[in-house]
Amino acid sequence: MIFYRPSKIYVDPSVGDSPITQSILKTFPDVPCDYTCEKPNILNQLSGYSDPLLEGKKHLWITRNQGKLLKKCGASTSSLNNLVCCNYFILDFSFNCHFECVYCFLQEYTNLPLMIVYANIDEMLHALQELLDTTSSSIRIGTGEMADSLALDEITGFSQYLVPFFANQKKAFLELKTKSDSIQNLLKWDPKGQTVVAWSMSPSSYIQKYDFKTASFEERLKAAKLCEQAGYKIAFHLDPLIAEPTWKEDYQELIDHLFSNFNPAWVSLGALRFNANLKSMIQKRFPHTTLTVGEFVSTPDGKKRYFRQFREELYQTVHGYIEKYHRQTPTYLCMENKVVWQNSMGSVPLSEQDLEKHIVTHMGTFERCQNLSLLLFLRGLFFA
Ligand code: SF4
Repeated sequence: MIFYRPSKIYVDPSVGDSPITQSILKTFPDVPCDYTCEKPNILNQLSGYSDPLLEGKKHLWITRNQGKLLKKCGASTSSLNNLVCCNYFILDFSFNCHFECVYCFLQEYTNLPLMIVYANIDEMLHALQELLDTTSSSIRIGTGEMADSLALDEITGFSQYLVPFFANQKKAFLELKTKSDSIQNLLKWDPKGQTVVAWSMSPSSYIQKYDFKTASFEERLKAAKLCEQAGYKIAFHLDPLIAEPTWKEDYQELIDHLFSNFNPAWVSLGALRFNANLKSMIQKRFPHTTLTVGEFVSTPDGKKRYFRQFREELYQTVHGYIEKYHRQTPTYLCMENKVVWQNSMGSVPLSEQDLEKHIVTHMGTFERCQNLSLLLFLRGLFFA
């Protein structure tokens, strides 16, 4: 994994005293720093670079998130596309990511491609408490929508605030979604079963082809095992599922590896998708990639996807590999419609609360099975 180092830092004075800001400045005492209330306009500094997105990420803006600190996942708020959602909340603590995944939607999401860290952690914790005070059911809250949850954790220290906060909750789970192995901060805390660290996983050769600068397959698994031993629940996102010519064998091997070594709290599946702008951005930034080669269809949510029948085959096949382990692991499709759910999984959740309840209920029974993967580890099967 490549660690992040900015070439310029901009600090909004309103968060100058935040412990997040102070942690970053302490990590990079030699990096030039400007204090400014305005969003830094770096566009003129990027012209002339063949890849302005890559160059823009060297600029880090530490500011206050003035928008809604907690929001429902985009799939659940869209009424147009019949997507099945899982009642998931998102806490935005940063925007953009220094990793270079070929398929990353963030590439076309902004015209000002700097890295942003929101440092108003006190307000975030307050908003979290308000949400939990007014919610009767168990919910999951994630941070990995507009950034990788842990890619910058060693410089920001966000997990040092979030993990202890959730450790004191009974009806909320924090999900940290990552492709990194930055877990040193996590190992300092007892999460008391309330934090799930979820790794996005692909077959090893796919990671080498498409997930640049991230932790390798082995590094992710090693980090997951250390987190599990420290009391964290572990989950996996197989997203995007990519139809390489050998996908059936590759995903079977992946599932066998994951399920031989872990008892995941949940697994999500999501087939490769992108909108038209992202496809041309990928072709421009990664001209030799084979990711965009193949036939795709337009779907009502404006995205290009594999044909529906093929997506269903992908999901059915990978779900079948999971079911062979008879663990009742909650497995859900990300950003898919009811027809695909029915044809791939054999049923459709009655509602987003129904799906959420299914996932969270399993986490209660999960405690009783948790020693299974540790046992396998001790028997020398890990990385076999
Ligand atoms: S880790 Fe996630 S956010 Fe970062 S580049 Fe990859 S897909 Fe994008």
